[in-house]
Amino acid sequence: RLAAQVRTFDGDGRTSDGHKVQLLANVGDPAGAEKAAAAGAEGVGLFRTEFCFLDRADEPTIAEQVEQYRTVLAAFPGKKVVVRTLDAGADKPMPFLTDTAEPNPALGVRGLRTAWANPQILDNQLQAIAEAAAAESADVWVMAPMIATVPETEDFVAACARHGLTTAGVMVEVPSAALLSGPILARASFASIGTNDLTQYTMAADRMLGSLATLSDAFQPAVLRMIEETCRGGAQQDRPVGVCGEAAADPATAVVLVGLGVSSLSMSPRSLADVAAVLAATSFERCQELARIAVESESADQARARVREGLPILA
Ligand code: PEP
Ligand code: MG
Repeated sequence: RLAAQVRTFDGDGRTSDGHKVQLLANVGDPAGAEKAAAAGAEGVGLFRTEFCFLDRADEPTIAEQVEQYRTVLAAFPGKKVVVRTLDAGADKPMPFLTDTAEPNPALGVRGLRTAWANPQILDNQLQAIAEAAAAESADVWVMAPMIATVPETEDFVAACARHGLTTAGVMVEVPSAALLSGPILARASFASIGTNDLTQYTMAADRMLGSLATLSDAFQPAVLRMIEETCRGGAQQDRPVGVCGEAAADPATAVVLVGLGVSSLSMSPRSLADVAAVLAATSFERCQELARIAVESESADQARARVREGLPILA
């Protein structure tokens, strides 16, 4: 049984028939990067840069940022590290970027939207990321949070290009971005689905409210259809689509995500071994069959039960 064994991850995620699935880590600071490297992560699928500076009243200097980013990159020499630009706002207010008096912070000026009034702060951060990338050997991908439109994607990709950052992608965590994934991925190098916010915004259920947990569930068929649509856009544009929300850490969900066409899963390092074990016991074709069954289900409970039934390793 999955939970009964102590597992380790050998650093090479694959299905039983060898279909590659990169298993990456979510990190928030240099200490987290160390832990992720020790757990065998193939790289970093989400570096939440705002976690380095949440206690700051003022914008960190470029030099301070370079130091933090370099330390994280140094833990993954030669490996992919997806650096997300500051995702300030809502549950992560930053005094120098966000207005805490907004009536609906989750629907307010958060993520990339903070750059509309403060383009210099984004520009400074991209400068710091570029300097850190030049000094370390990690393969640096840059990603914007809370993208909702094609023009936002174009603006972000252009801003990255001005700093020589050529692998620029977007998070898909707003339903509009999932529905527009084709044109968005015609501009961006990659997409990473943030299932925490994509679920929150698809289901109109605050991710912080335990009383709404039955809605805040990536097995909700409507959420799975958003993910399916995002993968369709990725396939159409031949761009990789990953997942970096909590759903990637749940073995049954991970199987469905892979079946829908997701090529990398990023999660808390402690979940890597269990997700790797389930994938290693499941063929890619089986992942696709279970994904179809889940998407065609009529409730989250039904989808989860059917997928778990189809995965003897979780029985
Ligand atoms: C997400 O929304 O799923 C995500 C990974 O971003 P965060 O949890 O930092 O909002
Ligand atoms: Mg998010």
